[in-house]
Amino acid sequence: MARSDNSKSRNTMTPSLCETCAWMREIITPKGSRFLLCQLSKSDPAYPKYPPQPIVRCGGYQRKDKNEDELKQ
Ligand code: SF4
Repeated sequence: MARSDNSKSRNTMTPSLCETCAWMREIITPKGSRFLLCQLSKSDPAYPKYPPQPIVRCGGYQRKDKNEDELKQ
């Protein structure tokens, strides 16, 4: 019973703004750990390099555009 409760809470985790932010760069370590790097931290020290997740409010948030993804290709 407790096991199903745990998996339920994992599935309902708050989504982070970083996931859809243009400043975010995903880092996957060789061991498979995943980190979200905030590239805005390079120019603005107010933003941590690896913001504690999930981020629900952020003044630097910029929504990733489809067009931006197309331009990178
Ligand atoms: S600017 Fe904010 S929302 Fe975007 S990656 Fe950095 S911390 Fe996350």
